[in-house]
Amino acid sequence: MNPPDEKTRELLRLIPQVNELAEAVHESDEGSGLPRRVVVDTTRQLLDSLRASILWGGDGSVSVPTPEDLDAGTLARKVLSSARAAMQPNLKKVINATGVVLHTNFGRAPLPSDALDAVVETAGGYCNLEYRLAEGERATRQEHLERLVCMLTGAGAAMAVNNNAAAVLLVLAAIARGREVIVSRGQLIEIGDSFRLPDIMSQSGARLVEVGTTNRTSLSDYSNAIGPETALMMKIHPSNFRIVGYTGDVPLEDLVALGSQHFVPVVEDLGSGSLVDLEPLGMSGEHTAADSIARGADLVTFSGDKLLGGPQAGIIAGSSEYVEAVRGHPLARALRIGKMTIAALEATLRLYLDPEKAWSRIPALRMLSEPAESVRSRANRLKRLLGRAEVPGLEYAVTPDVSCAGGGSLPTSEIPTYCLGLRHEALSASALEARLRGGDPPVLARVKDDRLLLDLRTVMDTEISSLAEAIGASIT
Ligand SMILES: *Cc1c(COP(=O)(O)O)cnc(C)c1O
Repeated sequence: MNPPDEKTRELLRLIPQVNELAEAVHESDEGSGLPRRVVVDTTRQLLDSLRASILWGGDGSVSVPTPEDLDAGTLARKVLSSARAAMQPNLKKVINATGVVLHTNFGRAPLPSDALDAVVETAGGYCNLEYRLAEGERATRQEHLERLVCMLTGAGAAMAVNNNAAAVLLVLAAIARGREVIVSRGQLIEIGDSFRLPDIMSQSGARLVEVGTTNRTSLSDYSNAIGPETALMMKIHPSNFRIVGYTGDVPLEDLVALGSQHFVPVVEDLGSGSLVDLEPLGMSGEHTAADSIARGADLVTFSGDKLLGGPQAGIIAGSSEYVEAVRGHPLARALRIGKMTIAALEATLRLYLDPEKAWSRIPALRMLSEPAESVRSRANRLKRLLGRAEVPGLEYAVTPDVSCAGGGSLPTSEIPTYCLGLRHEALSASALEARLRGGDPPVLARVKDDRLLLDLRTVMDTEISSLAEAIGASIT
């Protein structure tokens, strides 16, 4: 690198000391309410980035600051506004108008109010997390969930861990470490966000034995692979994709029959693992956790925050013998769930004791099952509110489209829905998208055919008026 030229050195000299600028901001009227460490940190970041732009700028990607940019008043204002922004929460509410009901990036399932109440009630103070009140003795935290899961799935025993990836890891480590696990090549999936089944398998210490081909696997493929090293056979739900055409897969009950001949257990990773039949929604091909248990799976694993509609968790259910083995593994302690999750999961599971309650009170199920006509009436309400707000240059119309389940659940299902399609005379659809995304609250929507579509299926009744305000405020 060449030594800096005179002009560069001149600019660098204009940059104040961190403490000097931070002190000035902190002692000003507007800055006095801000914590000192936030002001200092923000000041250091700003000055570092200015120094970098002076030294490295001018190559077209970053512009070189002018002496005016380095004026004390200008710098103080910049520090103030960044420090104020740094005081806002990072994790915040957004309005999901994408129509993707279980969007991993947006926190998957919105919790039922029953679950929220349970968290507030138990986590704000002390609770009987690991204590049996009747006997006055120590107990395990799993007891709060086990009977419920068993009732809802028909399993003999159950437990919950941090998420379904953890559930799969733990089951493999506890039952198959150092031995072989037989999996069909058609089921060696990647879920996204780097959950690849073969990687989880090797982390658990189990050896993967792939059988069959991508599109077809037969029972004899499995039986030929069984040997003295076989610890289990695993069936994995092809969550986020479908193989169509010339395909063949072995039904769970046939695997179970084969397994019992050879004393090899069968584990099914259900992914979403619904606890209610989704057939009424026209979502075929999904079986419930109870179906898998009834068809003989020794263990099933599934997520708490996909179709179940509760908090992030991974549920392991099945025969007592195998659940005991899993529970006793040292990793179980590392992957255990916290009291807030237990409170939310217990309350969500309780809703399933009465399936009608589950459909009406669990937001994910309610959104998935809401008739298109009812979504349309929400779209019309939003349209009326926007009409009243009289946003200049904005055109909008209610339009039919399709929503999807998301979260690797029901990948091929298309749910008829209604959207409010927005167009602006001076802004492109993607500019409109960016405006709404940067708004307060941020609104996430999808661009289609030069329009911004707000899918009302994933927008709650209580959000409509703030949605209308956010649209108005981010455009005008
Ligand atoms: C989603 C999914 C997982 C991972 O579950 P998380 O709860 O996200 O950890 C594992 N297996 C299958 C089949 C899945 O669909």
